[in-house]
Amino acid sequence: MSTRGAIAVPNPHRKGWWGRYHHFDSYPMGLGQELFRLYHDTFDRDATLMAQVLVHEHPAGWSNLVRPYTPRPFEREDFEHAGFRGLGDPEHDAYPLCYCHGARKESAHALTCACPGGPEGCGPVFIEWAYVLTVTGMFVATSWHPNAEAGRALVHRLVALVDWDRPEPDWVQVQHRARAVNVPDLTL
Ligand SMILES: [Zn+2]
Ligand SMILES: [Zn+2]
Repeated sequence: MSTRGAIAVPNPHRKGWWGRYHHFDSYPMGLGQELFRLYHDTFDRDATLMAQVLVHEHPAGWSNLVRPYTPRPFEREDFEHAGFRGLGDPEHDAYPLCYCHGARKESAHALTCACPGGPEGCGPVFIEWAYVLTVTGMFVATSWHPNAEAGRALVHRLVALVDWDRPEPDWVQVQHRARAVNVPDLTL
């Protein structure tokens, strides 16, 4: 099942974020949890290095970097072998699957969000979840309808701030915030 998302960093020029597409399982219990584990286990609490690898070094984005069959994330060396491998490839599940390396070799593509402003290519209709990496934590944004009855377009809004220094949050709770009318407090 594809739940599409973005792995992002704050936009240095203005408010909002920019980042890369992530195709599969991008909801908090999937990609959100995996990013928390990657920060602690794989990138040794270095958010700058993590963003360098996940956002800058794979400019076409990701099919999937959630490691299957194990609660442990991919290791640092595994990202050296990142690339796209089809289902018929015996190493299909062995390494992170990106669209720029390996069999796909797609060109760079940035998702830039300035919601709720004008259309910026962040695709709130199909990018359901976005994770914005900072040195202190990870902002979680979701796409929602600010006023469905008035026919307003979908926009991204922040629903949580995951503090790197606090215990792992309840990802179910984060996921449920997508349907909350108001999220007055981003902390968990
Ligand atoms: Zn790549
Ligand atoms: Zn947006």
